[in-house]
Amino acid sequence: LVDKQSVASSSLLPRFLNSDLNDNFGYFIKKKLRVWCQLQNGHWESGQIQSISSDTASVLLLNGSVVTVSAEDLLPANPDVLEGVDDLIELSYLNEPSVLHNLQYRYSHDLIYSMSGPVLIATNPFKKVELYGNDYVTAYRQKLLDSPHVYSVADTAYNEMMRDGVNQAIIISGESGSGKTETANFAMQYLGAIGGVNDRIELQLIQTSHVLEAFGNAKTSLNDNSSRFGKLITIYFNAVGNICGAQIETFLLEKSRVVHLARGERSYHVFYQLCAGAPSALKEKLNLKAASEYNYLNQNGCLGADNVDNAQKFQILLEALNAFSMSKEDQEHVFQVVAAVLWLGNISFQVIDSEDHVKIVADEALATASSLLGCRSEDLMLVLSINRIQTSKDIAAKSLTLQQAIEKRDALAKFLYASLFNWLVDKINGSIEKGERQAGRSISILDVYGFESFQRNSLEQLFINYASERLHQHFIRHLLKLQQEEYDLDGIDWTKVEYRDNKDCLDLFEKRQTGLISLLDEESNLTKTSSLTFAEKINQHCKTNPCFNREQGGAFTICHYAGEVQYNTSGFLEKNRDSLHSDSIELLFSCSSQLPQLFASNNADQASVFHQQSLGTKLKAHLFMLMQQLENSTPHFILCIKPNSGQIPGIYEKELVLKQLRCCEILQVVKISRSGYPTRITHQEFAERYGILSKFGFSQDPLSASVSVLQQFGIQHEMYQVGYTKLYFRAGQNDALEEARKQV
Ligand code: ATP
Ligand code: MG
Repeated sequence: LVDKQSVASSSLLPRFLNSDLNDNFGYFIKKKLRVWCQLQNGHWESGQIQSISSDTASVLLLNGSVVTVSAEDLLPANPDVLEGVDDLIELSYLNEPSVLHNLQYRYSHDLIYSMSGPVLIATNPFKKVELYGNDYVTAYRQKLLDSPHVYSVADTAYNEMMRDGVNQAIIISGESGSGKTETANFAMQYLGAIGGVNDRIELQLIQTSHVLEAFGNAKTSLNDNSSRFGKLITIYFNAVGNICGAQIETFLLEKSRVVHLARGERSYHVFYQLCAGAPSALKEKLNLKAASEYNYLNQNGCLGADNVDNAQKFQILLEALNAFSMSKEDQEHVFQVVAAVLWLGNISFQVIDSEDHVKIVADEALATASSLLGCRSEDLMLVLSINRIQTSKDIAAKSLTLQQAIEKRDALAKFLYASLFNWLVDKINGSIEKGERQAGRSISILDVYGFESFQRNSLEQLFINYASERLHQHFIRHLLKLQQEEYDLDGIDWTKVEYRDNKDCLDLFEKRQTGLISLLDEESNLTKTSSLTFAEKINQHCKTNPCFNREQGGAFTICHYAGEVQYNTSGFLEKNRDSLHSDSIELLFSCSSQLPQLFASNNADQASVFHQQSLGTKLKAHLFMLMQQLENSTPHFILCIKPNSGQIPGIYEKELVLKQLRCCEILQVVKISRSGYPTRITHQEFAERYGILSKFGFSQDPLSASVSVLQQFGIQHEMYQVGYTKLYFRAGQNDALEEARKQV
């Protein structure tokens, strides 16, 4: 066996360097060490160098074949003793094929979690793995297990909160379908188990996800259970570490899904669950039909999701609503709104003149939608066929064209559904136990929608990817930027690790007046604008940004940290305005059903406070608030990786994984944490803490006292550095001092 330490120090060369090519090759041939060899198809294969001549090498691959490759295409592989290490930091040779191999090796042994320095990598198993539940919770709590796990991240966050009295944040990122929501649920499960004083709060924490997922998740082409909103769940603890409350904050639900579905995608789960699972009395009350009868659900023929029993899921949803003590009456109100939305979608229009004006067909859909909302069908008919406009003298009525009528109907449906979602979140927040909140005693779990790129991308994807960029900036700042800046400023000897910053891309969105969000607002507020005028405008202002490219027609491309996405501006302005016609609001005000009326009045309240802000501006403001909260918390990062795009267990598509690792600069993160100094302490603090150990006593200045302690304890020079203001230590170097201090 090769000794781990000597391997680790023998060579940290990222690639064989040309200058000492022969030396390195010679060493590898003599020791029969393995190398990675890049073949013509771009894949890396493992093998042994047999011979070298000038700048090429002949390599014996594992499958027995011999290839001749350029020296450029060789990288050192790690020895067997390092096969499948827990933390990528332990790899002697840190290069892409080695990192990939290590993660794949672990994945094939169902070790889905790995550390890469301070970041937990969670590779989606797409199958049930036996890694969770009470026994595992206990094992991680009692440190009987220390292998990488989401439980161990949650445990560290909990311990640091208790130790330092600082709020903690578990930040989960990754592409759509990579496993963020599942991971967030496991983190909550762990915190609920260790901090729950009674079963009720623990149960409520788990049940939140059942409600939120029923109403806020849907099948997309990337993920059968894709979150169509972002969420931050903050769990509050008391002085002794017991949970005393929790709060959910959600971000921008994708409303357009309620009325329009892309190919192969479904609407929100709750629609199908209600249609399949409602007991007959409720079905009758809501005049419910099968999901296939509703236009909002059947428009693309995608009604089922594999292996999902909608009726059973409906029972789970009811149990969850009960866990929040929601009355039967309130539950019925909720389903009334859900059914009203479905029936609204079935309302049809008849064109009555050559100008495409319409009248509403007075059928079952109109009657049922009105009765579920609690309004007169004549009133609903009127609202959907004309716009009343206040002129300087009186009120004028303008007949709607078919397109306008459909848009007005859909806007009403979207408003009702999004308001219902927000109302449910408020209800849950109101019902989760609330003790007195204390500063520095909370853990937040952030699960924001993953980066998305479809064939056709609209404003929803632009916003989702903007949120993703914001979060990526936080990741970069904390793992790559701040540490290195600190080393630089404090004058310690440090070789800078280069990385890609996404500042340009964020600027493209956020720049005052000339950023995409501002331009979108400006254009949405003007009359006589269109998607094409908007495309023209952004091209004028953004063309110098390296991340922006104008495409044909109304399209443009953004080069995101996670890849290029082409957006089509059609519908951008209407979606961003996000306004409901005053007629529709008035109609809802007049409804006898409780929730529609409440939604109308909430909307009026909001409009008076926020002056009817556009979606983009709301999202930007919300993200800024989120960032502020995160900046005041100790971050713990989890990166979820999607091993294949087919959502299949056991398949590991190397290129796909590599792309995700590259986007998040994982190699750089590992490099920094491997050669970095995770423990940092000011001279003063060090002297105060460990000065008592100095044989010279307290008489010296802080720096001299510190250095004499370090020498006394034989701490090697390469294990620490002295900065202008702080001392910097490699991992674990002050353990001995801490032990000695406890003995004094
Ligand atoms: P989106 O951004 O679209 O919301 P996501 O990152 O939240 O995606 P999830 O919904 O958490 O992705 O995961 C997708 C699917 O992968 C889950 O429905 C589940 O089937 C599977 N999965 C994820 N993590 C695990 C896990 N730890 N164990 C078993 N299955 C998992
Ligand atoms: Mg999700």
